[in-house]
Amino acid sequence: MDENIRRANRIAVKKIDSRRVKRIRDEDFFKTLEEVFDHATLMALYDLLKRGFIDIVYGAVNSGKEAKVYWAQDSKGLDIAVKIYLTSTAEFKNSMLPYIVGDPRFKVVKRTTRAIVYTWARKEFANLAKAFEVGVRVPRPLKVNKNILLMEFVGVGGVPAPLLKDYLPSDLDGFFEVVLDYMRLLYQKGRLVHSDLSEYNIMVEDELPVFIDFGQAVVLDHPLAEEFLRRDVKNILRFFGRHGLDVPSLEEAILWVKGDSS
Ligand code: ADP
Ligand code: MN
Repeated sequence: MDENIRRANRIAVKKIDSRRVKRIRDEDFFKTLEEVFDHATLMALYDLLKRGFIDIVYGAVNSGKEAKVYWAQDSKGLDIAVKIYLTSTAEFKNSMLPYIVGDPRFKVVKRTTRAIVYTWARKEFANLAKAFEVGVRVPRPLKVNKNILLMEFVGVGGVPAPLLKDYLPSDLDGFFEVVLDYMRLLYQKGRLVHSDLSEYNIMVEDELPVFIDFGQAVVLDHPLAEEFLRRDVKNILRFFGRHGLDVPSLEEAILWVKGDSS
């Protein structure tokens, strides 16, 4: 990072610090921010702080290659998750493109990494909103600004609810049925395919599933929607089959999810 950007970031961080942030549990948080995010991201974050969408940022919940997730609170004291996509991961751009191109909701005019990442964040917001609207339990989306997505925090006291891969719900059979119901609702009512569904993107809250990570979800018009659905269903059947459930065949499950709409 060049020295000018570094300096601008320091100034932005100071402003956030003095005007808005009352308490920071993770002392390295802003230092980390400065090292990880570019100037535009820090400015977008500052804008969200200024407008009260974020009041306090407590610290990182998850630090993936493509996005970081933070626990924060809004000005009403509501727990929120702040998901910030990195604009610096070059390979990410190539893996994102196929999920954007072919989705008629989003036209990428400029194919810069930045433009694509911003589109990705808006796409995740739109997908979450649609899923929420049709009754699939997801973190309710609150706001998107550039590469920053704000949503309801799933978990208690800054501790995220566990992922299905790490926590087996007590009634696995019932849980599996709700997962299939959600896939069906998402497909038939939401006209969406999640496209990265597995035990890694399902949280368990109060013993029930919460679907997360919707950036790559595509509308049914997408040329690869059927292929993505098949992959999602396969992952889900594999997981629950491995844990001893008597699962339907792949074709049966796909038919059930799609219903009469094909
Ligand atoms: P990615 O897999 O692309 O890094 P995810 O959306 O799957 O991004 O989020 C990564 C992790 O962050 C999740 O596994 C979960 O532990 C945590 N997380 C994501 N969204 C929320 C949320 N709304 N509330 C609480 N924790 C979350
Ligand atoms: Mn994920």
